[in-house]
Amino acid sequence: PQVETTEILVIGAGPAGSVAAAMLRRQGRQVLMIERQQFPRFSIGESLLPQSMEYIEAAGLLQDVVQAGFQYKNGAAFVRGEASTEFDFRDKFSPGWGTTYQVQRADFDNVLARGAERMGTTLRFGDEVLSVQPGRPARVQVRRPDGSEYTIEAGFILDASGFARLLPRLLNLESPSNFPVRGAIFCHVRDHIPADAGFDRNKILITTHPEHVDVWYWTIPFSNGCCSLGVVAEPSFFEKYPGSDEDKLRAIVGEDPNLTRLLVNAEWAVLPVRTITGYSANVSSLWGEGYALLGNAGEFLDPVFSSGVTIAFKSAELASACIAREYDGQTVDWEKDFSIPLRAGVKTFRRFVEAWYAGGFQKIIYHPDPQPDVRRMISSILAGYAWDTHNPYVADDSGRRLRVLEELCSG
Ligand code: FAD
Repeated sequence: PQVETTEILVIGAGPAGSVAAAMLRRQGRQVLMIERQQFPRFSIGESLLPQSMEYIEAAGLLQDVVQAGFQYKNGAAFVRGEASTEFDFRDKFSPGWGTTYQVQRADFDNVLARGAERMGTTLRFGDEVLSVQPGRPARVQVRRPDGSEYTIEAGFILDASGFARLLPRLLNLESPSNFPVRGAIFCHVRDHIPADAGFDRNKILITTHPEHVDVWYWTIPFSNGCCSLGVVAEPSFFEKYPGSDEDKLRAIVGEDPNLTRLLVNAEWAVLPVRTITGYSANVSSLWGEGYALLGNAGEFLDPVFSSGVTIAFKSAELASACIAREYDGQTVDWEKDFSIPLRAGVKTFRRFVEAWYAGGFQKIIYHPDPQPDVRRMISSILAGYAWDTHNPYVADDSGRRLRVLEELCSG
């Protein structure tokens, strides 16, 4: 049978895959990207961080994203009962972008994939990668929508298969996440939030449940009058609510007075209510002979700080830089040049996610008299600058500085 060859095979055309494909095309590499679904398709992960703009720009996709008309975003607002605070990402410690977008992922992912295609990526929808035999070259088996199969020989594989986690499953790389299992129930609502409600559409709103510090809601406004609305909790919490997923979501939203007030006129479920559970995941290694894992195919922490797409882009940037050096005849140490730097920023986010669920981070952000310079450092991390080691809260490898700040704010 006929064997197709490519320099680089990208599996999955989500944000990680498309940005990697575009970056590799900028280096002149031959790129084939295979996506099993037809686009546009729904995906979760709708609030971007300003740090992600740097990678969109580096991939040559900035104009595509800017022109798509997504909701401008300049920060994050937090509410817990009577307490509220907000961060403007333009006021931050690290240099770089201070604004970004909130995106319907069906459109956003399509914009990125089409941009990568415009730059010369061969993009194939509807084909599914079934199996991979790693090596140089790797051999990959693919199934077309009509059920027929073909083989690809690829010089290098980037697994950007997201929550499908193709190579971790096929090659037995999965390792447990150290976060407890949590789930989310979510939908899009046509929000009709009253103009005088004090709601800033340029910010994501994160609301902590009035009684349960580890239960939280996201409200992510879009540019079309809709919001993404979701709640995150452990499965045992959701089980206490009767009825359908929509009944549960409505009941839990109804427990927060501020959200109830904002959504008083909302038309619910303009997109169907969906759920996702047990999304936190890890791998024993982010790379192997002739392949690397990008985005969610590698490690996924937690949605609370909207870091997923930023981490996906960072992985794409690091991997494409390593591939460039290999094609330049240099030897690449994938552990040192890809895995360790990627995991460094993930570790920063992990400290903050852990502090969020334990409640300490909330004490910090709601403190009535914050130090402006410390707040700018926190703002930087919330804006996604988790790799900027000039920021003391990034360099804080042991987490001591964050714990001290929590104690200071607990008084
Ligand atoms: P994906 O976007 O999942 O793309 C993977 C693609 O691979 C899919 O299109 C799939 O069809 C394709 N694929 C899979 N298997 C195959 C195969 N065998 N062959 C061919 N194609 C295949 N992140 C944020 O940045 N902001 C947020 O606000 C945010 N909120 C979140 C809320 C929740 C509840 C959850 C669970 C996550 C959230 N995230 C958020 C994280 C975000 O969803 C992910 O980090 C992001 O989508 C990862 O992108 P990706 O490119 O790695 O994978």
